[in-house]
Amino acid sequence: MTERLKTIGIFGGTFDPIHCGHLRAGLEIYETLSLNEMRLIPGKHPPHRSTPKASPEHRLNMARLGIQGSPLQIDDCEMRREGPSYSIDTLMALRREYPKASLCMVVGVDAFLGLTSWFQWEKFIQLANIIVMYRAGWSLPKTGITAELLQSHALASKNLDQVTCGYILTQKITTLEISASQIRNLIEQKRSPAFLLPKSVHEYIQQNKLYGYDENDTMTPKEDVHL
Ligand code: ATP
Repeated sequence: MTERLKTIGIFGGTFDPIHCGHLRAGLEIYETLSLNEMRLIPGKHPPHRSTPKASPEHRLNMARLGIQGSPLQIDDCEMRREGPSYSIDTLMALRREYPKASLCMVVGVDAFLGLTSWFQWEKFIQLANIIVMYRAGWSLPKTGITAELLQSHALASKNLDQVTCGYILTQKITTLEISASQIRNLIEQKRSPAFLLPKSVHEYIQQNKLYGYDENDTMTPKEDVHL
């Protein structure tokens, strides 16, 4: 029988803040593909987008609160590293630590479409497999480099535990049309983001007055009603 490799999901993001779209996606990929681990990796200084609104410490704390009670894990390796949080550095570090594991970089279709703008993206596939998750409002590329990559590296079966790197798998998940920017915008407009993110994360935002939240907002939850 062929040896079964350890499978590690690597789900990077800004998580500004973490929300149910991230969490549900991470959990479904973990369960559906029977991964051994699913690590959410908040980026400290994401190089390919504008500076996050919340500090790295707040985003890490929210991510830790968000995963509570689930099998998901938080890996703070990018928080501990100085300078821009390049995914290639994270992949290389994990590969050094786990030379024989199947590293599975998890990205939404939106992120995958922008892959070629990531620093040293050509090396990703030499270090890891890539799992592309469907996301509401986004379609898989039909032309261009990313479409060619999907074709040339397609993993037909779901045997991620047989390949350390080099394959791309597209995976359907329950599409939840939630984004961190939507949550930040709601808070800015003094509207409630409740039920788009875990209650603990919502409370953390209120306690720390993130994203322009102020305590006089009407979105403050009412006292719990005990039935
Ligand atoms: P923002 O709105 O600030 O751009 P975001 O909600 O897209 O943030 P990110 O932290 O930028 O969240 O995303 C990290 C990863 O999570 C990306 O690969 C992205 O595709 C994926 N992702 C984000 N939201 C969802 C969602 N609702 N469903 C599936 N994947 C998601």
